Parts: sequence; C-alpha cells; structure tokens
Amino acid sequence: MTELTRLTEEEIRAFCVAEGFPAFRGGQIFSWIHRGCDFDEMTNLPEAMREALKARAIAQPVSILTSVQSRIDDTVKVLFGLKDGNCVEGVIMRYHHGITLCISTQVGCRMGCAFCASTLDGCIRSLTAGEMLGEILSVNRFLGEKEHVHNVVLMGSGEPLDNYEEVTRFFRLLREKNGICMSLRNVSLSTCGLVPQMRRLAEEDLPVTLCVSLHAPNDTVRMRTMPIAKRYSMEEVLAACHYYVEKTGRRVIFEYALIGGVNASEKDAHELAGRLRGLQCHVNLIPLNTVKERHLEGVSEKQVQAFLRVLESHHVSATRRREMGDDIAGACGQLRRSVMSPKENESTETV
Ligand code: SAH
Repeated sequence: MTELTRLTEEEIRAFCVAEGFPAFRGGQIFSWIHRGCDFDEMTNLPEAMREALKARAIAQPVSILTSVQSRIDDTVKVLFGLKDGNCVEGVIMRYHHGITLCISTQVGCRMGCAFCASTLDGCIRSLTAGEMLGEILSVNRFLGEKEHVHNVVLMGSGEPLDNYEEVTRFFRLLREKNGICMSLRNVSLSTCGLVPQMRRLAEEDLPVTLCVSLHAPNDTVRMRTMPIAKRYSMEEVLAACHYYVEKTGRRVIFEYALIGGVNASEKDAHELAGRLRGLQCHVNLIPLNTVKERHLEGVSEKQVQAFLRVLESHHVSATRRREMGDDIAGACGQLRRSVMSPKENESTETV
C-alpha cells in the first residue's frame, strides 16, 4: 500500500501515471488529501478510479481515537490511531495568535530521559512523514470549518532528529504550494541534543525554530537525567546551537524542566546563564510534570520565580512556560499510557 500523505504533488502525479491514470488526477488527489479527505470524498474522481486506488493506497493514515478536553483551559489532548494499530499523542493548544498542535514523531522514544513518560517502553517505531502530516490533517478535520492548525511543534513522543529523513520530508510536504501550505516559521522542532543532526539541519533550507532540551547547567547534572549527555557534551550541544543561529539567523529555544534537588537552585541558574552568554537564545522554564513511574520532584512557584530572576539578572531572555492541560495528562506519553492501561489512571476522563 502506498501512503499518499507521504508524497509530494509531483510524486502523486507519478504514482497515478504508474497506476495507469492521467497525471492531472494526481493534482486533484493531492489537494483532497491535504484537505483531510479520504477516497470516498474525492467526488471529482471516477468511481472506478477511487475503488482501484483504495486497493493500492492509503489516503489518510491517521485517525483520532480519543480526545480529552481540559476543564481548566481550552487544551485538548488527542490520541491518534495509526494503521498498524499503534497510537501516539497530540495536544491542541489555543493561543491568541492561533492554534498550536503538538505532534509525535515516533511511537515511544529511545532516548531514555529520566523524567519522561514517552520513553518508558522504548521506541516501537518511527513515524513516516505521511503520518506526521496525517496528525495535522486529522486535527484540521476535527476542528471543523472555522478553525485550523497555525503552528506545529514536534514535542510529542519521539526524538525528531532520531527520525531525520522522515521529519525533513514532512517539513518539505508542509511547504507544498497546493497543500496545507504552512510556513516553516510556524514550526518548532525539539531535540534532546543530537549534535550531528542539529548541524545537518542548520545546513538545510528548512528554517524551523530549533528547541533544545537542556534541563541542566552542566554535564554532571545533565547526565543524571539525560543518557544522551554521555554521548554529546553540553559544550558540543551549545556549539551546534551557535552554528544553528549563525546559519539560520534564528534564535534557539532552550527547554529547562525544573526538578527539585537536581537542577533548580539559584546556583544552577547562575551557571546556566554563564554557559549561555553570547548565544542568541531564549529559555523556557517548565515546572516538572510529575510522572507516576518516575521518582522526581517538581518545584514550588517561588523556586521557579527565583530561577527566572537570576537568569534575568544576567540578561538571559527567559519565561516560565504556561502550563496547559495540566489536568489531562499533559506530559509526554501520559495519555497513551493511560489509555493503553486505563485502570492505572482513572482520573483521565475520555470523551
Ligand atoms: N525528544 C525531543 C522531543 C520531546 S519534546 C526532546 O527531547 O526535546 C518534549 C519536551 O518536554 C522536552 O523538552 C522534554 O524534555 C520535556 N519533558 C518530558 N517529560 C517531561 C516532564 N515530565 N515534565 C516536564 N517536561 C518534560
């Protein structure tokens, strides 16, 4: 079966020709697909052609299995179903500048960060570019006629740079002119710091915002929670960030989850500010979302503010990330786990 969401318009035209149909049909199919439609809805195609295609290709590889609406804000968490029975999570967030969708790039993750729920069972497989696009298409349909996704963040389950080829193909699909036509300026990719791929991305003409999960002021602390820190030092990660800024002209965003007793002291904040000196960047402070399987502590609001003040005193641009969907298993991998073993998490209400 050919996954059509993974193909460019040109490639779908070639696919049509190979299947014995005229090339212009490929253009029609491409625009239906990017509107989130399946074969039965492609009303300008002959019925016999639609039937023939159904046996050979998949038009929409992703469906929404469950959605959970937050009771405290407009956030909606969704569970995406994939054709092979796997599922991944997404989060729809409403901001004043439009809707942001957080998508997953792998089923699970193999990076092993100590605070993260996505990685608890390792990585089952990587998503295809067509599945990543499919996450957006299914959400656009879910939102209805009046709303659509404006911004996309690759911050769901998975390490996007561990799935480099498909992720960059996905970026190219977003820019197709008869497709959903999203500017890459509205796309953010988050990585735990895979240095060679960060450098490679800097060299592509794909100007997405690079977010880096730092979560520590030095290698000793970073190694306590992030196994990847043993492979690439913070110095190498920061050098790759400098390179990204230099090549793309865009500032880098650092994510820093504050973990009580690990990385959240004022001394840590001073050290972090020192390391970031001279780098065009912004720090997003995230109070740790505690994950039941992980024995790590969050911090008080007072500690968050104190950390923030230290960064500001060093003129490091920083904000405390708004917590959204805190009541709906907002942290990576939590919804999937609760749906896969619902008895363990009865507080999640599915609609
Ligand atoms: N693998 C990529 C993409 C995940 S993005 C990466 O590591 O960047 C999700 C972000 O949420 C990352 O910054 C991740 O480190 C962070 N995160 C994961 N679990 C968390 C938790 N329990 N509390 C706060 N942040 C968490």
